[in-house]
Amino acid sequence: MPSLSERAAAKPPATPPRGDAHYLDGLNAPQRDAVLTTEGPVLMLAGAGTGKTRALTTRLAHIIHTGLAQPWQVLCVTFTNKAAREMKERIGELVGETVEGMRWLGTFHAIGAQILRRHAEVVDLKPSFTILDTDDQIRLCKQVIEAAGLDEKRWTARGLAGMIDSWKNRGLTPDEVPGPEAHDFADGKAIALYAAYQARLVALNAADFGDLLVHNLTIFRKQPDILAEYHRRFRYVLVDEYQDTNVAQYLWLRLLARDETGRSGGNVCVVGDDDQSIYGWRGAEVANILRFEKDFPGAKVIRLEQNYRSTPAILAAASAVIANNEGRLGKTLFTEADEGGKVVIRGVWDGDEEARVITDDIEAEQTKGRSLSEMAVLVRASFQMRSFEERFNTAGIPYQVVGGPRFYEREESRDALAYLRLVRNPGDDLSFARIINKPRRGFGDKALQTLNIAARANRTNLVDAGRFLLETHELKGKAKSSMREFLDSLDRWAEASGSKPPGDLAEMVLEESGYTEFWKQSKNAQAPGKLENLKELVNAASEFDTLGGYLDHVSLVSERSSESAEGQVWLMTLHAAKGLEFPLVFLPGWEEELFPSGRSVDEKGKDGLEEERRLAYVGITRARESCRISFAANRQVYGRWQSALPSRFIDELPEEHVEIASEAGLYGVAAKELPSHSRFEDLVVERDSTGGGYDTPGWRRARKSRSYGKPPAIEGSATLVASSAPGQSDFERGQRVFHQKFGTGTVQRIDGNKLEVEFDHAGLKKVIGSFLTAA
Ligand code: ATP
Ligand code: MG
Repeated sequence: MPSLSERAAAKPPATPPRGDAHYLDGLNAPQRDAVLTTEGPVLMLAGAGTGKTRALTTRLAHIIHTGLAQPWQVLCVTFTNKAAREMKERIGELVGETVEGMRWLGTFHAIGAQILRRHAEVVDLKPSFTILDTDDQIRLCKQVIEAAGLDEKRWTARGLAGMIDSWKNRGLTPDEVPGPEAHDFADGKAIALYAAYQARLVALNAADFGDLLVHNLTIFRKQPDILAEYHRRFRYVLVDEYQDTNVAQYLWLRLLARDETGRSGGNVCVVGDDDQSIYGWRGAEVANILRFEKDFPGAKVIRLEQNYRSTPAILAAASAVIANNEGRLGKTLFTEADEGGKVVIRGVWDGDEEARVITDDIEAEQTKGRSLSEMAVLVRASFQMRSFEERFNTAGIPYQVVGGPRFYEREESRDALAYLRLVRNPGDDLSFARIINKPRRGFGDKALQTLNIAARANRTNLVDAGRFLLETHELKGKAKSSMREFLDSLDRWAEASGSKPPGDLAEMVLEESGYTEFWKQSKNAQAPGKLENLKELVNAASEFDTLGGYLDHVSLVSERSSESAEGQVWLMTLHAAKGLEFPLVFLPGWEEELFPSGRSVDEKGKDGLEEERRLAYVGITRARESCRISFAANRQVYGRWQSALPSRFIDELPEEHVEIASEAGLYGVAAKELPSHSRFEDLVVERDSTGGGYDTPGWRRARKSRSYGKPPAIEGSATLVASSAPGQSDFERGQRVFHQKFGTGTVQRIDGNKLEVEFDHAGLKKVIGSFLTAA
C-alpha cells in the first residue's frame, strides 16, 4: 500500500495551482511537507517557536490558492480571536489578495456559536439567543439555587457555575453526568440544579460559553443529516494549539473531521506542543494530542526542530526548565539565531519596585529606539497587573491589557450592551432587569417584583409580562407610564434595528433611553471616562454590518482589539500570551507561591507543578531577543504582605545562559561577588552602607523592618541577586534643573532616578534623572 504522502502526491489537486507557490519558499522541508500533505490526517507536534502556526497558516493559504477548497469550505480553529485575525491577514499576504469568505476560521467558541445559530431550534433556542458571560451565568446559578430553597452560603452560585462548567468542558449534558459525581454538592442535587439551570437558559433564549459546543454536540447527535451537511462542507479541518483542547472540543472535532461519506479520518491537520499545555485547570487534556495517531490511523506525524524565534540563550533556558517535567515526549530544538544576550534575572525589594524597575527598563529601551509594542510584561496572576498599570500611568507609557479587566466588562459597557441585547432578544430577562430602572424611571423594586410574578404566572418573559400588566391595569402611576414608554421605545428600536446600521442604532438607543444623559448629569468622577467609553462602544458597533454580528463579537472577544497596538506596551497573563511572540519579554513575580502558584500545587500536586512549569516554558519562549525574569523579596498578596522565596524555576535555569542583573557599584558589590545563599537582608545592609538615598515605599518598609530587627529573609537560592533602581538620583528637592525638551524647572519629588519636576513652561512632568542637568 502506498504511503500517505505517496497517495497525496498521486492525487492531483482539484484545480491546478494558480501562479507559482512562492509562499513555500520561506519554509523548511518538514514545514513544506505539512503544507503539501493536504490529504489525510496530519499531526505536527513540535516545540515552541518552530513555525507550527506559520506552517498551518501557509497550509490554509495553499489550499485556497490551489483551489483545493473554497475559503468557506475550510474549518480552521485558533486559540484566540487575535490569532484568528492575524491568520486571516497573513493568508491575504501569502496569496497576494484579500481572501473573502473565511467564515469558519475562528475560535472553538466563535465557530460553535455560528453553528448553533443555524440550528438553534434543535436545542429549543431561537437563532437570536444571547450568549451569557460569566457574570450573568453566576447570577443565573444564584437564582437556581434560591429557587431550590438551598442555603446559598453553603452552596454558592460560583461553586455551582464551576461544576456546570467542568461538566460542559467534558461535553456532558445533565442526563449524561454520572450520578456519583454530583453527591458532594447540595446533598446530591447538583444534577437537578444543572438541569434547572439549562431550563432557565432555554426560557431566557440564552446560552453560556460551554453550551456553544455542548449544544453543537447535541445537534450533531440528534440530527445526523445536519452533521452530514458539515462533512460535505468542510473539506479540510485545521487546528492550532491542539494540546489545549478539552474533551468537548475534542468530541466536536472528531465528529466534524470526517470525509464526505462520514468516514473517520478526513483531511484534518492539528498542530501543538505537549510542553505548552497550560489549560488543564479548564479541562484541557494533553492526552488528546498524544492519542491523535490512534484516533486517526495512518496519520502523518511531522516534527519540527528548528526554532526560528529565540536566541540560543533563551531557548536553552526554556529547554532546561521544561526538562524537569516528567511525562513529556521530549524534543530537541536548535536555533541558528545569533548569540544575543543571556536571560536576565533580577531580584527586587517588592512588587512596586519591580514595576518601577521594569518601567524604567521599558523607557530606557524606548530611548534606544525600540517601539513600545515590541515589549510585553507577562504576569502569572492578574492581580500583578495593577502595579504595572499604575506605574505605566504615572510614567505616561501607553499600554494595552490583553484578556484582563476588559472594556466590555465595565459597568457602562455592560449597561449599554444590555439595552442592545434586549433590542435583539426581548426574552433576555437578565438584560431587562439590569436596565429597566437605569437611568431611574420610577420603576422600582416593587414594580419589578410584580412583573416577575406576572412573568412566572404566565410563563413568559419580563417584556411580555410588562405588556400583559399594561392591559390588565395592574401597574399603577409612574411605574405604569414608564413601563409603557419603555416598551414603546423598545418596539421602536427593534424596528430600527432592521434598517439602521448597528453604530447608529446604538447611539439612538443610548440617547433615547436617557442612558447617555444619565452619565452626563452624573457627579461621579469617572463619568467623563464612562461617556468616552460609550462613544467607543458606538464606534466599535459601527464596524459591524448587523447588531447580531456585533453582539456576538462582544460575547466572544477575549481581548480588546489590537488596532491601536502600535506604540503600546503589552500587559497580559502568561495564559493569554500563548502563541504570541515579542522581541523583549519581562517575566515578573517569579516567586514561590505566586509562580509556581501555591494553589495549583496544593490542589493538584505534581501535575499542578508540571503545568506551572509548562507555563514558565511558554513565558520564556515568547521572547525573541531578550527575556528578563524578576522576583521580589516581599509581595502583597490579597492585601497581606508576605516575604517570598525566589521561584524554584529560577534555580532550574542553566547558569551559563543566565545573567544576574546588577547595577555595579550600586550596592558596593557586584552581584557576581555575592556569596550564594545570600540573605536578602545583606543586600539591604550593603545598600544602606552606600548611603541610601532611595525613597520608595519598598525601601522605606525595608528600613523600617530592619529597625524592628525582623528583616524579611530570603534564603536557599544560589541565584539570588542584587538589583534595584538603575542609579540613584544626583538631584535634590528644590533644585533647579534643565531638560532638553521641557526647559528649566524645579525638582518636586525624587523617586529613585525618576523625578517630578515643575517646569516653568511645560508644567509638572515625570522625567528620568539622566535626562536632566543642573540649571
Ligand atoms: P508556538 O509554539 O509558540 O505557538 P509556533 O511553533 O507556532 O510557536 P510560529 O509562531 O509559527 O511558531 O513561528 C515562530 C517564529 O518563527 C515566527 O516569527 C515565524 O514567522 C518564524 N518562522 C517560522 N518558520 C520559519 C522559517 N521557515 N523561516 C524563517 N522564519 C520562520
Ligand atoms: Mg503557534
